[in-house]
Amino acid sequence: MNAIRIEASRCPQNHFCPVINICPSGAIIQKSPFSAPEIDYSKCTSCGKCVRYCGFGAFNKVIG
Ligand code: SF4
Repeated sequence: MNAIRIEASRCPQNHFCPVINICPSGAIIQKSPFSAPEIDYSKCTSCGKCVRYCGFGAFNKVIG
């Protein structure tokens, strides 16, 4: 199954994550205003929008 993985080291962790607003499933969470986002896998459908949207490449689709 394909899954989305977040590479926190690619995220500068200094801003509100704009990808939260483009996820159609509400599956992206940011626990504090400047932390790297996390994925709620109970909601994520692996649509890949976050992978295309994040300018830092912090969202990756893992094929498996
Ligand atoms: S793959 Fe789609 S549903 Fe999953 S976190 Fe990214 S935008 Fe949201």
